[in-house]
Amino acid sequence: MKSLPRLSRLPVTLLAGAFVVLVCMSLISIDGWRSWHAREIQMGESVVATSNLARTLAQHADDTFKDADAALVGLVERLSVDGTSATALDRLHRYLMNRVTESPQLQGIFVYDENGKWLVNSQKVVAQNLNNSDREYFVYHRTHTELTAHVGPPIQSRSTGKWILTLSRRVNHGDGSFGGVVLATIDVEYFRKFYDSIDIGKLGASILGLDNGTMLIRRPSLEKSIGKSIKDGDLFRDYIAKNDSGTAMILSNQDGIERLIAYRHLKRYPMFVTASLAKSEILAEWQTDTYLHTTITLLLICVLGWLGFHLVSQIRLRVDAEVEARDARDKVETLNRTLEKLALQDGLTGLANRRRFDIVIEEELRKAKHDAGSLAVVMIDVDNFKRYNDIYGHPAGDDCLRKIAGAVKISEKRIRDLAARYGGEEMAIVLPDSDIEGAMRVAESVRLAVRNLRIPHAENTSGIVTISAGVSARTLVRRDDTAARLIDDADKSLYVAKNTGRDRVCFFPEVCNV
Ligand code: GH3
Ligand code: MG
Ligand code: MG
Repeated sequence: MKSLPRLSRLPVTLLAGAFVVLVCMSLISIDGWRSWHAREIQMGESVVATSNLARTLAQHADDTFKDADAALVGLVERLSVDGTSATALDRLHRYLMNRVTESPQLQGIFVYDENGKWLVNSQKVVAQNLNNSDREYFVYHRTHTELTAHVGPPIQSRSTGKWILTLSRRVNHGDGSFGGVVLATIDVEYFRKFYDSIDIGKLGASILGLDNGTMLIRRPSLEKSIGKSIKDGDLFRDYIAKNDSGTAMILSNQDGIERLIAYRHLKRYPMFVTASLAKSEILAEWQTDTYLHTTITLLLICVLGWLGFHLVSQIRLRVDAEVEARDARDKVETLNRTLEKLALQDGLTGLANRRRFDIVIEEELRKAKHDAGSLAVVMIDVDNFKRYNDIYGHPAGDDCLRKIAGAVKISEKRIRDLAARYGGEEMAIVLPDSDIEGAMRVAESVRLAVRNLRIPHAENTSGIVTISAGVSARTLVRRDDTAARLIDDADKSLYVAKNTGRDRVCFFPEVCNV
């Protein structure tokens, strides 16, 4: 009985607990997914932003060099038309000075003859007897017949000492032989200012480099990085050297910072630019947001867990209370049944008591009247029992009565037969649907059963305990028949049995079985 409520209680608390756990897990999953999604969006936006930045830097460099190149193309044209006479050079000098003031990125424009001697330039005073034949650009054009523009490695100006970028073109004599070099120099400072104006965070970086891997400019500026080769680095080898443009996430082996890098080659000149943002800075806002969300979610989970714990406790208490109430109800019902049984049972013999006998005999009489059936009653009295008590004592008398009751009980052969203690040492049997012969047989079997107990009784005729029984029966119960008359008739039969010697069954007035 007890294990059933426990079984039914288990799923309720378990379900409530599982529900709370499920809600908490859902919260964690949703928050985790939201954070991951926000991170993906942030990274995606940064890829677009760095790509756009690289495009802007490439466009700027392209435009800067194109402007300088346009000046060189014009210069080559003038030289081929005007020649290098003193007057022509003087006119060219004025033109170059004007041209340089027009373009802020141009640091200077220079013309060298086929030996590297300075012919004219954009400086106010043209220094004499200087020779640049050892410069990279000069050597390049002297040894290369192509007339395309050449971007050289960064150099420190001999005239100003500043770092400059060089763009140069070859000048040919009329016969196609090498006639010198025209050179435009671009101040690194010009790019530095532009790159400084772009917000790439504290850890971001921008590079302008040559396609051979030489670094021209780097922001934030690392003085020693100017002119350095990055061609063996992962970024150049795996990405810049292979693609026109793109993005990559690279861990710098110089400062250990992971950066999202967008790179792009210039359209017209053999150069590339990179723009990079540090991953930690890209995700800084996302990180703060995630910390905040995680803290709130954890707090929420704690509150939910606490509430869930109390909810489960409450459910358990309620279920326990229900189980206790059910147990109490079961006990009361069992008690009621016991009381009911006790109210209809004789305490000494365990047979039905007088009350039950009265109820049953009335009930059977009513049925017999209704069905025009038969009904018989047997009254039993122990012989010389007063003396038994006197000889063996009252407790022994009680014990004897219990044994006799056991023998009387065997008369209950059919479901509706009833053996009862009528009062004192008298017992009675109600036998529905029995005629007088049947009742006599039952009474006789009880008499013999008592004899067979062979309980010694020194002052009874046969030396053992015996009973006398009187029978009454109605084969066809009439409307005016009553229980009292039936019992009275059985009493009369019993009286006959007593008066004719005891230890016998009689049916007044006709027969007695001995
Ligand atoms: P008879 O053969 O004429 O019936 O003689 P008897 O002595 O049995 O006379 P009677 O039936 O009048 O006596 C009833 C006796 O049964 C009286 C009482 O001592 C005894 N008795 C009645 N109820 C109980 C009981 O519950 N326990 C015991 N031990 N004795 C009882
Ligand atoms: Mg008696
Ligand atoms: Mg008696």
